[in-house]
Amino acid sequence: MAFNFSKDNLPKKLFINNEYVDSKNPNKLAVYDPKDGSLVADDVPLAGEGDVDAAVLAAVKALPRWKNTPATQKRDIMLKFADLLEHHAAALTELTRITLGSPKDMGKGELKLGSESFRYNAGWTDKFTGESLPQEDGFLKIIRNEPLGVTAGITPWNGPIATMGFKAAPALATGNCFILKPSEKTPFASLAIGALIQEAGFPPGVFQVLSGDGSTGALISAHMRIRKVSFTGSVATGKKVQELAARSNLKRVTLELGGKSPAVVFDDCDLENAVTWTVRALTANTGQICYAATRVYVQEGIYDKFIQQYKQRLQALTGSIGDPEQESTAIGPVVDEAQFNRVNGFIERGQHGQGKLLVGGRRVGNKGFFIEPTVFTDVDTASEIHCQEIFGPVSVVKSFKTEEEVMALSNDTNFGLMAGVFTQDINRALRIASDFETGMVGVNCVSLMMLNSPFGGTKESGIGRECGIHALRAFTETKTIMVNLTY
Ligand code: NAD
Repeated sequence: MAFNFSKDNLPKKLFINNEYVDSKNPNKLAVYDPKDGSLVADDVPLAGEGDVDAAVLAAVKALPRWKNTPATQKRDIMLKFADLLEHHAAALTELTRITLGSPKDMGKGELKLGSESFRYNAGWTDKFTGESLPQEDGFLKIIRNEPLGVTAGITPWNGPIATMGFKAAPALATGNCFILKPSEKTPFASLAIGALIQEAGFPPGVFQVLSGDGSTGALISAHMRIRKVSFTGSVATGKKVQELAARSNLKRVTLELGGKSPAVVFDDCDLENAVTWTVRALTANTGQICYAATRVYVQEGIYDKFIQQYKQRLQALTGSIGDPEQESTAIGPVVDEAQFNRVNGFIERGQHGQGKLLVGGRRVGNKGFFIEPTVFTDVDTASEIHCQEIFGPVSVVKSFKTEEEVMALSNDTNFGLMAGVFTQDINRALRIASDFETGMVGVNCVSLMMLNSPFGGTKESGIGRECGIHALRAFTETKTIMVNLTY
């Protein structure tokens, strides 16, 4: 099966047991191009119960062999898969771009995160060791990391190949079988990787792809033979996944959910650096990134200068909002009409008593779902624009006087994904880094991630961590073997 997918030859079959097959479910998904709202396809498979069962059955059959495949063989397959992802980067990123609308550079970066996650985890296949404990009591204790079995990943629309890599790579490296369920809004790149899964040499049933919507995700979350779901998406859906997992077989659940990340900018910071990071945080992927710094708190002494530069840079970027197919485009549309209406609703309501519009606030063009980067100042801290995740290019900026005041403000939220602090004072930076109630903190940077370091949030931003050794732990169960040495 050669990879020959493109926007003129869209993948429209499920990938089960190393074959592209038609869905048993007659219902289909429709997907649209956000740059003009046109229909891309209305016949994308929506996996139903029969399809999920078929994939799970194939995975159950494949599991014993994959679990016992030598580490070096697993490693080589994973490395080949990473190479194949990059070899077909142009086609894969286009397949995402036509329904996500992200600019080309963003797509390249997203794909690279996916392929690098496979390389990183391939390196772990023969290094993820267990432990042994003292035997002076007459018992040798061996602690092993064992695969969970059939596992699944449910992904959001904003970074389909990167998110696939964060989940599939550690699952497969530790000997699990893995079923991917991409978002109904951006399914094509995920469906297309089936051909690469086969070419890389994954045995049938080890790595499968089921497109579908929330109903497919719910079937997976409730399935009695799936032992783990790694979910990335909204808080509301994450809670449903957790509930379905608990009601079914208590499958393990990792949740990577939403955020409303603060960036705290002190008077003594390098202003240029603080502006660069906070502008990038707001505009990358049109603000549709879970760890985007969308609450910016700036100390009084530097506030006016910061506001002037932040505004200037965002206004300048407004000129490069446009067609994601153009190399010069830095900001594309938001993903679809529903998201467009949602973000505009926040902007509209925000102008009625919640804050003062500093920049942006308008639609760009008269077709497609383009929105100017939008900033509010003088915000009411109880307002929805200050408290809720908007998941679009909208931020709030507020001034503060003291460290105590800004830390209280930063932590006064149910989210806890990421925070950033900008200062030249190392003591303050480290003190604040430990005071943030978040899973990740940037010092003189914000809204970034590293594949070798744990990624995830506290509070309602999630449960568990992806990336680094933490992802391997999340896809394995600890087993204690006690050997009676006196027998
Ligand atoms: P979403 O929750 O609507 O959907 C996510 C996935 O869940 C999709 O594949 C969807 O089909 C599936 N789903 C929907 N209902 C389901 C159900 N009942 N059971 C199981 N699965 C179900 O989220 P979205 O709109 O695709 O993505 C945006 C959200 O994702 C934002 O809140 C954003 O912050 C979050 N996000 C978080 C991270 C992170 O790593 N923390 C990364 C990216 C996005």
